[in-house]
Order: sequence, then structure tokens, then C-alpha cells
Amino acid sequence: VTTPNPRTEFRPDLVVDLASELVRIPSANPPGDVTDIATFVRDDMACAGFEVEWIEPAPGRINLIATVEGGKPGPHIVMNAHLDAFPVENPESWSFDPYSGAVENGRLLGRGANDMKAGLAAFVRIYQHHAAKRENMAGKLTLMLVCDEETYGPNGSLWLVDKRPDLIGDLLLSTEPSGMGLMRTAERGMIWFRASFAGKGGHGAHPVREWNVLERTRKFMDALEEEIRSAKIEAAHFLVPVEEEESYDEAVGPGAMAHIRKVSANFGRLDAGVKVNMQPASSVLEVDMRIPPGLVSAEILERVKLLAQKFEGDIEVLNFMEPNITPSSHPVVVRFQEEVTRTAGVKPVCGPAPGCSDARLWRHRGVPAIGFGPFPHAMGGTDEYCDVKELEITARVHHAIVDAILFRGEEGLL
Ligand SMILES: [Zn+2]
Repeated sequence: VTTPNPRTEFRPDLVVDLASELVRIPSANPPGDVTDIATFVRDDMACAGFEVEWIEPAPGRINLIATVEGGKPGPHIVMNAHLDAFPVENPESWSFDPYSGAVENGRLLGRGANDMKAGLAAFVRIYQHHAAKRENMAGKLTLMLVCDEETYGPNGSLWLVDKRPDLIGDLLLSTEPSGMGLMRTAERGMIWFRASFAGKGGHGAHPVREWNVLERTRKFMDALEEEIRSAKIEAAHFLVPVEEEESYDEAVGPGAMAHIRKVSANFGRLDAGVKVNMQPASSVLEVDMRIPPGLVSAEILERVKLLAQKFEGDIEVLNFMEPNITPSSHPVVVRFQEEVTRTAGVKPVCGPAPGCSDARLWRHRGVPAIGFGPFPHAMGGTDEYCDVKELEITARVHHAIVDAILFRGEEGLL
């Protein structure tokens, strides 16, 4: 284990070294067992002189917690990162070893490089550096490293915010990938559901005795798309201001703003029928809907259920969350934005990323939550990498924010 002395100057280049080592330890989810990487991080923390709490709600589903309290009272900052990563679907299609961890041409290479072993490494070193000076700290700092994030599973952050209210704190920092041009201060809500349609089936060449289930499924899909098109969204004031829309597209990708403003539905799976010359007796459709801030997921779900009834279908909810926001006018968001501008040389837009993250759990509890990390180059895809400069900026910015609040006593931010 190559551990820098946390009592010396904070070194972003050493964050990159740690990130390399973390990429070399697979922690794919599914299956979601994070024992190897959790053991490595626990040992690294021990080398730096810090104990961690090992919380394992299910075998191999491990969360690591370290908390340090300063000499004086003050706010509680929680730094959250996840230990798990997406699996590697097809290693042959990669142009390098998916668990390489090498740094080449300013890029850290491998699965999880940007989501989010880079950010994980940043928080570990930031914690070690600040915790070593605890006498001068006014407040409390928690490092929360979780499992189960990639599947929104029950054993990671969800388990912790439920069972350990002492870990919620006053500010949640996340290093989820965003890119330098975006601060993640909001998220769309989510409804994953399964719609089932059942009938009696029959011989395909005979007259249809009832409303064909596949036909009903298709009509339901059409009706759902129509419902989405007609949804009235008053999200403008929560989302990116009109004058910053272009910057948002530059930061996230072409067409991102238009996409994020809408309810979206992805028809992910459809199972129906047995044989070409039989009328199917059942049909099962799985849909992933995303709900922008300004709408209420629960209301959308009611409408989906009514639609399903119309086509004699049943809805089973697989995953559900409401949209969430930390206002971009919040003093700590404004301060963070200034820090990024100073460090990265660009003023980031505040808004939602296309996907969700554990930060939602804090916003739902009224705690401001900011996500800022390297750009998600090929996140979850082939040839994932992380820009090393962006990782260093990420580390500097989060380090400076913790320093400002817990050590420099900057007031009025929380
Ligand atoms: Zn992530």
C-alpha cells in the first residue's frame, strides 16, 4: 500500500495514484460483492492511522464509514462515494485491459475510472488530510463509502440513511461524474414498472375471440407516449435558466437539455407469446420512466395505472423515486460554483445529470447535496477512462470546500 502521510500537504497527484490502484480491483455490480475493494480501502485507512466502521447488511455488501469530530462544534459534512462499478460486458471490445488502471496521455484507463473510483480516491485522501488536523476543525467530517449504488439496491446508502440518521449531516458532497461544466444539484425522479396483460390465448389462424394481449400492450405503449407528450411540466424555475441552456448542452452533450426537461420512457423489455401461430396468453412489458423536477412521480404513476386499467393491464412498481433539487441559489451551491470557476477556469451550470445517484436521499431529507466529478467518458461502456486533470480539479475543489467550512469558519454557507 502506497499511502502518503496525510499530515503533509494535500497532493492531487497522489489521489491519481490511489485511483489507479482502485481501478485494478474489480467491484462489478451485478453481482455487487465489494469485499476486495472494501478490504483494500480499510487497510489504506489503517495505514494512515484511521479506523473505519465495516457495515455489511448482506454478505459482500459492505459500507465503510469513518467520522472525525473537530475540537469545536460546527456543521457536519458527509462525503459519499460508491465502491461498486458497472460490470464489463464484453472485454474483447476494449482497446485496453478493462482493469488496467494505467495512466496514459493524461487518462486513467479502466472500468470504474470515472464512475467512480476517481472520486472515491479523492474523498479517501481528502478525509485523511483533514482528519489528521482534527484539533483545528470546527464541526464533523464523515467519509461514507457504499455498495449497491449502481443498482439503487437496498444495502448501500439507502440502508444507511434509514438506519443511521447520525450520518445524514448538514451537507452531502458527492464525486459522481459530472464533468467540469456541470454541478449536479438536482435529479429527475424515476418510475420503473412492469405492466402485465393476460388473456386466454388461442390458435393464431382462428378468429380472435378476445382482445389480443399483444395488441393491448401495443396500445398501452402508444397511450403512454401520448400521455408523456401531453404532460404539463412547470420545471423551468428549478432547472437550468434559459441563458445557460447552451452551456448545459456543451457540458453534458448535444440535446441534453431538451431531453432532461421532459418525462422520458424507455421500453426496456417485452416478453409475450410462445409461438408464431398462437395468440399469446400473456405479455409482460418493463418500462423505465424519468420525471423532471417540477412534476410529482406519484401523480405520474397514478396516471400510468389508470392507463393500464384501460387496457386491462396490471402495474407492478419495481423502483420509485421523486425528483429532487438543491436550489442553485443556496449559499453553499454558490460558494462551490465559485470554487470550481476559480480552479477549473469555467463557470459550471447547476442542474440535473441525466441519471440518478445516491445524493437524492439527502435532498429528499432537506439536506443540500452537490455532485461534482470528472466527465463520464464511456461510463458503463467500452474503454471507460477518466481525465486525470479533471480528477485533480475534483480533488482540489472538494478539499477546498471542506477546508472553507470546517477549518476556515466561512459562515452562512449552511
Ligand atoms: Zn456512480
